[in-house]
Amino acid sequence: MKLNFKSVFCFALAALLAVTALMPACLSENTYTKFSRRALDIFDTEITLMGYARTQEEFDRAFDDTMALLRRFDQVFDAYNAYEDLNNLYYVNRHAAEAPVEIPEELFALISWCKEQWSRGLRSTNIAMGAVLSIWHTYREAGLANPEAAQLPPMEDLLAASKHTDFDQVILDAEKQTVFFADPQITLDVGAVAKGWAADAVLPYLKEHMPSFLISLGGNVYAGDAPLDGRANWAVGVEDPRPDENGGGLMYRDIVDVHDLTVVTSGDYWRYYVVDGQRYHHIIDPETLFPSTKMISVTIICESSTLADFLSTTLFVLSPKDGLKLIDSMEGVEALWMLTDGTQQASCGMAQYLRSLKNAGGAV
Ligand code: ADP
Ligand code: MG
Repeated sequence: MKLNFKSVFCFALAALLAVTALMPACLSENTYTKFSRRALDIFDTEITLMGYARTQEEFDRAFDDTMALLRRFDQVFDAYNAYEDLNNLYYVNRHAAEAPVEIPEELFALISWCKEQWSRGLRSTNIAMGAVLSIWHTYREAGLANPEAAQLPPMEDLLAASKHTDFDQVILDAEKQTVFFADPQITLDVGAVAKGWAADAVLPYLKEHMPSFLISLGGNVYAGDAPLDGRANWAVGVEDPRPDENGGGLMYRDIVDVHDLTVVTSGDYWRYYVVDGQRYHHIIDPETLFPSTKMISVTIICESSTLADFLSTTLFVLSPKDGLKLIDSMEGVEALWMLTDGTQQASCGMAQYLRSLKNAGGAV
């Protein structure tokens, strides 16, 4: 066959087309796609994992492994249910006044960390306040089950319980990994920090197997490495705490742009019940023994989700002024307050993350 320019050109074109036809198959080996899945049966909240993986199977494996870890933590930190062969929080609350109880290392680590904060003088989040919190829990559950008959807990019950909330009466032995209650009526409730701790605890796994991810446990979000679609950050919504009052539909008040950081919000709109037309939510001020009414929500951004979860509850109880003082004294921690008059307060460094402040040139 005589080769002329035209046939060489046609051959080259055909070869190019053949290679191009093969390209999607070859490329897909190295191309990452964004996947997302939800679980509704862990930590009594909605958990979403989003991440970039090469295949659905790869993502599903990361999702299943992560949920298995979270399910274990949920059982360990559960104060309301027993599990076979597990000295979880429920078991501790029933038996730690009889004799020291050996506990799983996750639980020991979390209680120790919270006790350190208590010893530093940060006492608005007190996980040894279980006696008071369980009274509110009982009345809230009853009120939700039967809204017509919803009632507030009697103050004398709350006051009596508050006599048994001294964290110093919780004795930890690091060597034996045991916990003992010197006050037989004290109990622990780690609801204020458990989800943050769990988010930190799945980080090493996710960083290794699916580094570009975003996980949300209720209001606790951790954004991993930047998304693989060219964006520098994940966009995390700061929920509108009063969507109905603001015309409904609009779910986010603002957006923060982050990677390798956690964004944790505590608010009065997550868990509450209504008595005589008034909302009573789930974050209790140790001073008043009633739900704190100083703000609508507070959002924390920092590297540690445990710290962010602890601080979101702490700042929700402190006045916005005292909260700002605390945040200003901490390195690498920023906060955003939604106040009861509809305005916002933000710590200085929040301007680097919050879209409304970035667009406003950083003015707080
Ligand atoms: P969420 O669980 O909705 O993310 P938080 O992180 O603020 O909100 O935790 C609220 C939970 O913490 C409550 O359900 C209760 O179990 C517990 N809690 C409420 N108030 C306090 C407090 N002052 N100190 C310690 N734990 C608290
Ligand atoms: Mg919290």
